[in-house]
Amino acid sequence: MENNKFLKSSNKEELKCEICLNTSKTSKVINYEGKNICMECYYSIKYPRDPQKMKKEIEEILKNTKKKNRYHCIVALSGGKDSTVALYLLIKEFKVNPLCVTVDNKYISDEAIENCRNITRYLNIDWMVLNRDFTELFKDTISRGESPCRRCSERIMREIWKIARMLNIDVIVTGHELPFGTSSLKRLEGGITVVRLLAGYKLTDEERRKILKELPWKDSKLGGYTTNCLVLAPAIREFYKKYDYSFEFRRICAMVRYGLIDRDKALQLLKCPEVPDEIYEELKRRGLDIKH
Ligand SMILES: [Zn+2]
Repeated sequence: MENNKFLKSSNKEELKCEICLNTSKTSKVINYEGKNICMECYYSIKYPRDPQKMKKEIEEILKNTKKKNRYHCIVALSGGKDSTVALYLLIKEFKVNPLCVTVDNKYISDEAIENCRNITRYLNIDWMVLNRDFTELFKDTISRGESPCRRCSERIMREIWKIARMLNIDVIVTGHELPFGTSSLKRLEGGITVVRLLAGYKLTDEERRKILKELPWKDSKLGGYTTNCLVLAPAIREFYKKYDYSFEFRRICAMVRYGLIDRDKALQLLKCPEVPDEIYEELKRRGLDIKH
């Protein structure tokens, strides 16, 4: 299972995008200024993302929210590397007082919860945990061979949105690194705006690791591209069994397109992840029995 069907070249006609990992099997590949590129990459050239401009948007919205409330924003903190780095940059560069909210869906690693506790204590920030149980959501999606990620993150966002409403906070900061189209902001119902802080930075993996080293943050060995979720790697394995590729393909392509990771790293990430038996045992102990 080294390669997936997206990446295998089975016929000579197949064209490969020279920027990301798409081929004519996974996207339309066109010739643009002498280069073969996919449609997604073409649009990224035509409508470029400007981190500087996105950072401006973020500054603007945080400036306005500062006047209103004891907490200037909520940070959706998962204890993984991205949301931790986002929290750190938010405090260091924007001088705001956030409330950190963690939605514990019952399948966050112990290390990630520990990270949330240690980092908020270290930075002297208030932290709230919402205990929820996403077992049914995971059972449902994984048994059908689907990615659980989209539904899981939508539900997490809904929970955090409710807290924002309750406390009259109108900005929610997340650790996503890819923006919404060409903006780092998305307006939700009720006058609440989601800010994808890292979209304004374009940090490499090394730069992020450097920030994490300054913090009381510990990595957890979970497989896949995650530092907090116990479900991701087993879910990718189940998906592989059915489709022979990773459901992270498009997201990882986008990361290559925007220069957040190089192709070699991307190919590593797209392999079927190894999952230690202990992870399956831990999932079972928490209520999710994935046969493997
Ligand atoms: Zn491409």
